[in-house]
Amino acid sequence: MLLLRGGRVLAPGGSWVDASVAVDGGLIAGVSPSHAAGPGDLDVSGCWVLPGFVDLHVHAAGGARLQGAGASLPGVAAALARGGVTSFLATTYAAPLAELHAAVTASTEPTPRGARCAGVHLEGPWLAYDYAGAQPREALADPDLQAALDLVAAGPVRVVTLAPELPGAHDLIATLVARGVRVSLGHSGTTYDGAVAAVGAGATQVTHAFNAMSPMRHRDPGLVGAAFDLPGLTVEVIADGVHVHPAAVRALWRARGADGVCLVSDCVDGCLDGDPLVRDGDVLRRADGTLAGSAATLAAAVRNAVAWGIPLADAARMASTTPARALGLDAGRIETGRPADLVVLDADLAVRHTVVGGTVVA
Ligand SMILES: [Zn+2]
Repeated sequence: MLLLRGGRVLAPGGSWVDASVAVDGGLIAGVSPSHAAGPGDLDVSGCWVLPGFVDLHVHAAGGARLQGAGASLPGVAAALARGGVTSFLATTYAAPLAELHAAVTASTEPTPRGARCAGVHLEGPWLAYDYAGAQPREALADPDLQAALDLVAAGPVRVVTLAPELPGAHDLIATLVARGVRVSLGHSGTTYDGAVAAVGAGATQVTHAFNAMSPMRHRDPGLVGAAFDLPGLTVEVIADGVHVHPAAVRALWRARGADGVCLVSDCVDGCLDGDPLVRDGDVLRRADGTLAGSAATLAAAVRNAVAWGIPLADAARMASTTPARALGLDAGRIETGRPADLVVLDADLAVRHTVVGGTVVA
């Protein structure tokens, strides 16, 4: 039994309640204003108590990586927990299939003292060459149904990012969706109409909106226009203040609401063989200056969103409730009977505690 006593708690409807959260057996046992103090309680007065963050798109954290030589899922999971993340998708970048297989099978390794790995997000290799961003171009490939089925059979693949304009992409989308895998559109130069067709084939998500995709022009709205306009999509955005201008993040939030946007870290702090990345504040760049992902945490993304005028309740939902719902996780809401995956932020929105399955891990 654990009690987080006296915090300001985000209720499922998005309002704030002054309450204590009781945790028992890994689950939330109750949210109540009347819990008396006891030994072993966590005093969280003056703090915000939020559902733990869920990162749909993270390649590495704290110098530990998920793919390639020296990969350490527990290392990444522990670093993510220090940043308030309680569930994440182990996200790959384009690489030879054997390397992707290894990352998929490693995703089921236990992560004691860390965030839970909720499965794998395959970011490619079925991506557009001209929109590769920092993805290794030599590893990109056209859609390959058998390769995709082999990867899905190897472990819990939950999301696949692909470029829908590639040959065979629509068959691949339908095949993946039929197996319960979400398809996210990204690293793509598709037209708006191409995005509409891909959504018709079953795609439901957009990968790091604005970055590495056809931009929105008024006569040619591109994939960014689709991310704003098409109903039902869940749209990732990197809110580190460098990948996307604050006004673009705000505009996306206004267009889709907190239920339609997921904050993602796209953290690559510890990644990418043979091409050392240069740290530039909270982002990492290749030697030629190309943005190669973020070194920021999801907690920093929440702080940024609030600094840019988005209410904390909405920022928290975009970092937790919305991505949890996209993955079909029980987490993401502070309600009796839900998993006790929680993050406690202090008055400056810095992470004070992270609780995963009722255990304080950071
Ligand atoms: Zn990417």
